[in-house]
Amino acid sequence: MSRFRLDVPRESRGVYDCIVVGAGPAGLTAAIYLARFNVNVIIVSKDIGGQMALAPLIDDYPGVPSVPGVKLAEMFEEHVKKYGVPIIVGDSVKTITRENNVWCVETEGGRRLCSYIVILAIGSIKRRLNVPGEDRLIGRGISYCAICDGPFFRNKVVAVVGGGNSALTSALYLATIAKKVYLIHRRDSFRAFPYYVEKIRSNQKIEPIINSIVVEILGENKVTGVRIRNVISGEEKILEVDGVFIEIGSEPPKELLKSIGLELDEMGYVAVNHDMSTNLPGIYACGDVAGGKHKYRFEQIITAAAEGAIAADAAYKYLLKIKG
Ligand code: NAP
Repeated sequence: MSRFRLDVPRESRGVYDCIVVGAGPAGLTAAIYLARFNVNVIIVSKDIGGQMALAPLIDDYPGVPSVPGVKLAEMFEEHVKKYGVPIIVGDSVKTITRENNVWCVETEGGRRLCSYIVILAIGSIKRRLNVPGEDRLIGRGISYCAICDGPFFRNKVVAVVGGGNSALTSALYLATIAKKVYLIHRRDSFRAFPYYVEKIRSNQKIEPIINSIVVEILGENKVTGVRIRNVISGEEKILEVDGVFIEIGSEPPKELLKSIGLELDEMGYVAVNHDMSTNLPGIYACGDVAGGKHKYRFEQIITAAAEGAIAADAAYKYLLKIKG
């Protein structure tokens, strides 16, 4: 019998077969595969697309040579909708608990959904710089999302902090809007792909400031500058800027993951097996939130999507076992 036509009932006394939490590339792909397995699946997510939707331009997803992140996210969503999967957007998971042999997901918005399987695809949380001025000036010139806030800085001077792919792609995007972009990085070489480093070097509007950290963000009611320190000479100076874009990576939502009882790796990501299963029966993790010794960490849309597909396949087989 075809794996795609096995008889798994779509409704089961109000209990879903699977709740996918998160609608980035991992969660949306998991939902596509589960729907094709005829599994009764629902998605709950705070947004659509996750980090993918915040990428100014995606130029490494095969078959789609160049596309804004938000557009690719829409394409994933359309694909999910083709299979009729319900998506609850604008709500985040608060707790996941085991009750009467099913998992129950409670959301910040007061929803309560139960299922045999949960696929966690909740990504990670943007890291803060934790310097004076940051808390006070968030939304007043400090941003963690170039694509969301970049247009407010037309013909202005901005700084991007970080040396990874997110920082460099943000700097390149901001250079199409702002008058000048400082790229402040704590080391002398960039972690980002050489492709982006070369583009940064040849962009007249971008001035890389290496071996430097931001020690304070200045301004009373709005950002007016950043105080930076050269980590080699110790010299400090002020750069006058109108905006600061912080792109220094992200961290897993450790407290939530711990509260579920999931085994985490040393960085706080969910320790997954090769099939994305976790230490808890029926809970799978995929995409950026997944970690552990079996995970090859290469945070790309294509790898997140692949992990979503693997989680869906493994979850489907588990479902067949427990439902008989
Ligand atoms: P990331 O790769 O972890 O880079 C974070 C950067 O911030 C690093 O350069 C790091 O410096 C710096 N940093 C970290 N903590 C800092 C601090 N407290 N103060 C100053 N600098 C600090 O994070 P990301 O750029 O957000 O990317 C996340 C993942 O998504 C990566 O795997 C990335 O490859 C992937 N991604 C891929 C693409 C693409 O393929 N087109 C685009 C965006 C993101 P050090 O280098 O010194 O550690």
